[in-house]
Amino acid sequence: MTMTPEEKQIILESIRDIPDFPKPGIVFKDITTLLSNPEALNTLMTHLENRYKHYNLDYVAGIDARGFIFGSILADRLGIGFVPVRKKGKLPYTTVAEKYSLEYGFDEVEIHIDAFGKEGMCNDKPAKVLLIDDLMATGGTAKAAANLVNKVGAECVEACFIMELMFLKGREQFEMPVYSVLQID
Ligand code: AMP
Repeated sequence: MTMTPEEKQIILESIRDIPDFPKPGIVFKDITTLLSNPEALNTLMTHLENRYKHYNLDYVAGIDARGFIFGSILADRLGIGFVPVRKKGKLPYTTVAEKYSLEYGFDEVEIHIDAFGKEGMCNDKPAKVLLIDDLMATGGTAKAAANLVNKVGAECVEACFIMELMFLKGREQFEMPVYSVLQID
């Protein structure tokens, strides 16, 4: 399901660039202006709904925190459940964790052990899960999140991003399909 150049433009123009946030040299892609723009949000979510409605997904998993917003809307539109992948220490029940490296040091994401049902099974088959986040930079966060989905027995069928920073080549570390709505040079 392709988007028209006009639709892409509506979404692109609704996202605000904040130079030097959170530190010098980083251009932060601010999606709060997309969320508060009903035309842009509706255009984006209708595109994602059309793309994924024939994937026979069982769940959408969203990455902390902006992935929760897009993931929840999409899950509801598809009539399926939403699962949060959270930063360490936030989930109340038994979790499985995955560490990933940052520029300096490590971070960790977690998922509930039964997030996709017992052993991740849905009708005797591994649950089919779409992973979603607002932006892929190095891909480290999403790769760790995809590993978590697979660790609890489900199958991560695609990783989806609203934006992809192409120059960081994050998609090269994924074996599964990666989809981005907007490619940023
Ligand atoms: P990475 O693990 O390097 O792919 O980083 C992805 C995570 O960091 C996502 O959750 C993004 O929301 C956030 N992120 C990284 N770079 C940016 C950026 N330039 N603007 C907004 N969010 C970013």
